[in-house]
Amino acid sequence: MAAEVVVVGSCMTDLVSLTTRLPKAGETILGHKFFVGFGGKGANQCVQSARLGAKTSLICKVGNDSFGNDYVDNLKKNSISTAFVGQTADAATGTASIIVNSEGQNVIVIVPGANLLLNFEDLKRASDVICKAKVVVCQLEITPAVSLEALKMARASGVKTLFNPAPALADLDPQFYTYSDIFCCNETEAEILTGIPVGNLEDAEKVGRMLLERGCKLVIVTLGAEGCMMISGDEPIPKHVPAGKVRAVDTTGAGDSFVGALAFYLAYYPKLSMEEMIRKSNCVASVSVQAPGTQSSYPYRKDLPQDLF
Ligand code: ATP
Repeated sequence: MAAEVVVVGSCMTDLVSLTTRLPKAGETILGHKFFVGFGGKGANQCVQSARLGAKTSLICKVGNDSFGNDYVDNLKKNSISTAFVGQTADAATGTASIIVNSEGQNVIVIVPGANLLLNFEDLKRASDVICKAKVVVCQLEITPAVSLEALKMARASGVKTLFNPAPALADLDPQFYTYSDIFCCNETEAEILTGIPVGNLEDAEKVGRMLLERGCKLVIVTLGAEGCMMISGDEPIPKHVPAGKVRAVDTTGAGDSFVGALAFYLAYYPKLSMEEMIRKSNCVASVSVQAPGTQSSYPYRKDLPQDLF
C-alpha cells in the first residue's frame, strides 16, 4: 500500500557530550555523559507523523556504516517504510557533534555527509511513492535542488506540498514559494528569508504577507510557546493559533514535531479547517517539549488525548 505521508529529507546521528563548560581551541576536557540520538529534520518529521499513525515513507540517504545501519533500524522500529532509504559507500551518515555545558549552551558541528548525495535519480526511483502520496514534506538539510524537484514532482501529480525552509537560506530559490502549498517556518527562518526580525505576532503577520506575495498558498510561522501565526492566500487575514500552556523542559525538535503532526492531519483529516489542524499540531508539539531529546520526546498516538484524532 502506498504511503500517505512521504518525507524527502535528512537523517543525522546526534553525538552528544555533556560537559561542565565548553572547551577552548586546542583544549581537551572531560565530559560526564555521552549519548547517541537520532536526528535530522527529515527523519524527525517522518517519525512524528508515523507515531501519530500515518503510513509513511522516508526518501533519504545514509552511509554504508554502523550509524547508517542503526538509522535504518530506527526507522523500521518507527514503522516507516525504508524502501527508498539509500545506503552509500561514498560518504558517511550525516552527523551532528554536539557539546552542551551545564548552562545549556552548546557548540554543534554538522557534517551532512550522505544526505548531500541524495539525488534526482533517487527521486526518479521513488516517483511512484511520491506521486501517490497525500502529502510530500521537504526541508533544506539535503541538496536544495533535490528538495525542489521533489516538490515539483508532487505538485505535478496533485499531491499537497508542505515545505519547511530549514535551515534557512537567504538566497532561497524563488520557485520554493510557488511550489509550496504550505510554507512553514520558525521566527529565525522567517527573518533570514525576509530581513524582518520576528519578535511578536505583528512581525509574523508582516512576514506572512510578504511570503504570500512570493507565491505560497499558505504561510505558517511557528512562534514557540506562543503557538503559530497562519495566513492564507484565499483569505489573507492573519490568524493567531495559540499553543497550550505547558512546562517546557527541552524544546529541541519542537518545530519538527509540529511539521510532522501537520503532515499527518493534512493526509488523514483533510476536511478539518487549517486552523483546527494547526491547533491539533500545536498540542502534539507542546507534548514534545515536556520531555528531553528530539525523537525521544515525540509522543505516540496512544499517549495523546483521543480528541486529537
Ligand atoms: P526547534 O528549532 O527547537 O526544533 P523551532 O524553533 O523550529 O523549534 P518553535 O517555533 O520553537 O519551533 O516551536 C514549534 C511549535 O512547538 C510551536 O508552534 C508550538 O506548537 C510548540 N512549542 C514550542 N515551544 C513551546 C512551549 N514552550 N510551550 C508550548 N508549545 C511549544
